[in-house]
Amino acid sequence: MRWDRSGFLTLRLSIGARRRVPEEIARRCRFSDCNHDREPGCAIREALEDGALPVERWQSYVKLQRELHALELRRNHLLRQERVREYKIRERQNRRKPKKR
Ligand SMILES: [Zn+2]
Repeated sequence: MRWDRSGFLTLRLSIGARRRVPEEIARRCRFSDCNHDREPGCAIREALEDGALPVERWQSYVKLQRELHALELRRNHLLRQERVREYKIRERQNRRKPKKR
């Protein structure tokens, strides 16, 4: 039932595919750490090839994941900076305290 790439049928197919989110499809990849690139048995690539997963949907998913990953890295970086700062403050305070014993 995939005879048109731009007609109503395609629209119906993409609405149906919206429920099958990329995560669900990725769960069927042969490898759990699949990069969905050149791995054999990649369910994402199969879904893209047979139209079950619209390319635009996959691309926006990949973009979102990349943004989330970048956010996570940024957050981790800030957390680390915060920890380093706290550590330095504590060290300075410890040094100032005269040792009582
Ligand atoms: Zn894959």
